[in-house]
Amino acid sequence: MHDRLPLIAGNWKMHKTPAEAREWCAGFRSRLPSLPPGVEVAVCPPFTALEPVSSALRGHPAWVAAQTISDQPSGPHTGEISGSMVFSCGARGVILGHSERRAMGETDAMVAARVRAALDAGLRPIICIGESLAEREEEVTLHVLTTQLTAAIAVVRPSEVDRVVIAYEPIWAIGTGRSATPEMAQESTAAIRELARKRLDANRLRILYGGSVTPATARQLLVSPDIDGALVGGASLDPESFAMIVEAAG
Ligand code: PEP
Repeated sequence: MHDRLPLIAGNWKMHKTPAEAREWCAGFRSRLPSLPPGVEVAVCPPFTALEPVSSALRGHPAWVAAQTISDQPSGPHTGEISGSMVFSCGARGVILGHSERRAMGETDAMVAARVRAALDAGLRPIICIGESLAEREEEVTLHVLTTQLTAAIAVVRPSEVDRVVIAYEPIWAIGTGRSATPEMAQESTAAIRELARKRLDANRLRILYGGSVTPATARQLLVSPDIDGALVGGASLDPESFAMIVEAAG
């Protein structure tokens, strides 16, 4: 048995203006004025909507997270945003190492530096790892997960385990409508927990599944023993479908 609280996190990616974000929050709050017992929710808007979403969700238990941060605390880094900046806009967490950012050149070392920067800024990192379709077909999934996870948690102190979230996101399942089966997702999340055990008290580590989660598929994925919630992309853009996924976790 474990007492890991399920977390449902909505990754809006590059969607929603501040006005659209406020409208989403109003819809979500009227649909779920409080959260089902024992479920945590995070909303991850783009930088420009962090403050509007934080304000619009004030007094609601859902927390707000950014989608990346710089690995530097401040300085001459044009276009970058630091952990303390997103914290000051109300963020309490940050998605790191999303495959869409890794595809633009973010390396394991860069993700690890951002993980450390996030923890130092008081943010909870939601660290994404996952294999491509070619890697799955070549049967190197475990190797890929080991490399990505090992690099990312090397900078996490054992005492910080409760503040860290891992999201297992097979790249072939993201935005494709083709979710991993519950069996595949359970197999990978269980493997991640065993790998994490080398450094952290893995029974306390929350591991999410992400990849085309919808209200129709959420419940069957979330009953798996090593899946502690979901990172939801497309289905989080509509407050009604996001609320249905939150309810499925309850
Ligand atoms: C994601 O972007 O993290 C994601 C899981 O997207 P989707 O739910 O749209 O597949």
